[in-house]
Amino acid sequence: MSSVGISHEELRVRERSRPKPTTSREFRCDDCRARCTRMTDGTEAGHAKGCPHRLRRLGKGQRAPPSTEIVTDGGASDDA
Ligand SMILES: [Zn+2]
Repeated sequence: MSSVGISHEELRVRERSRPKPTTSREFRCDDCRARCTRMTDGTEAGHAKGCPHRLRRLGKGQRAPPSTEIVTDGGASDDA
């Protein structure tokens, strides 16, 4: 009953199995099924038209999700 499950050697092998970040990495997109390339700056090139991961040339960046925050504008005065 001295077995701990995963040995240190196993952990080391798992760490090594992780791919190191390269200058550019190709991968298959699950959404558009196209072969894309992940750039060093985090952008992804090569997505098909209509893919949510596709680069947008608009300078708006990521689309902000609809705010679910309730705006208390002059309602109940909870701050006296
Ligand atoms: Zn895609």
